[in-house]
Amino acid sequence: MKPINRFLLPALALLLHLTMSSRAQETKKITIVTSFLPIQSHTAAIAGNQAKVSQLLSQETGPHDFQLKPADVKKIADADLFIINGVGIEGWLQELLKKAGSRKPPVIDASKGLPLLGSPQDIQTGIHDPAAGENPHVWLDPVIAQRQVANILRALQKADPANAKTYARNARAYTSQLKQLDADYAVALKSLPNKNLVTFHDAFPYLARRYGLNYVGYISEYPEKDPTPNQLAVLVGKIKAYKVGVLFAEANYAPKLLQRVAAQSGAKVSQLDTLEVGEGNATAYLDRMRTNLAALRAAFAPIP
Ligand SMILES: [Zn+2]
Repeated sequence: MKPINRFLLPALALLLHLTMSSRAQETKKITIVTSFLPIQSHTAAIAGNQAKVSQLLSQETGPHDFQLKPADVKKIADADLFIINGVGIEGWLQELLKKAGSRKPPVIDASKGLPLLGSPQDIQTGIHDPAAGENPHVWLDPVIAQRQVANILRALQKADPANAKTYARNARAYTSQLKQLDADYAVALKSLPNKNLVTFHDAFPYLARRYGLNYVGYISEYPEKDPTPNQLAVLVGKIKAYKVGVLFAEANYAPKLLQRVAAQSGAKVSQLDTLEVGEGNATAYLDRMRTNLAALRAAFAPIP
């Protein structure tokens, strides 16, 4: 028995040591909660394997119509960081933080310092009128997304300095993919004529401004806020005046109201993704933005 023991005991000791040290490393990882898909996507890409990143919103809910549950409060209370898009789209933020009380983690606003737009008039004039409020859909511009990534990177490096270099390396690789995405949008859309954009909700002013789309209008300011008959009549008038050929519903969602406007104005219906609903991972933002680019190209392509 002696020879076996001589090998078995050190082997067991080593195994125990390895198990414990991998557990210790596991517990050292910081826990980050993000609000919804684009922010989850960017944060997951920067964090790689060095942090635990999870999304607060389930894959069926968007930030406009999210309802807080007790489990959400617990999730936030257990996190080291909570990263949001900001610009007010997380309208339930204050209630969530209040409920988390003294256990609330630092909140990182990924849009801090970004230039914001308000109403569609802002897009036409290029000047933001603060009285019109601010449009929160900044993530749909791949250039602004790079600034959000820089904000998120800084927050991760501050919360977890031991992995600062890895986060910086991951962020650089991810940012180069965002730059490629931007270049592909710019090239693909530049030569197309009549880039008239009409969407279901007011989610695309930043994208429109970036790539020179004519943001004619939207059906709803935000989902579940129906337009007045007068607003709708004005929109139908504009659609006819600009000879808008395609209206964009949202991915997997073409509300009756939009279909009616399309029927009244003779426009076709296509889809754009606001990236508000769904589960984020490190590639979700890039993949879904590319799907949007394909939809825009198809809609604006001249009829042969
Ligand atoms: Zn929205």
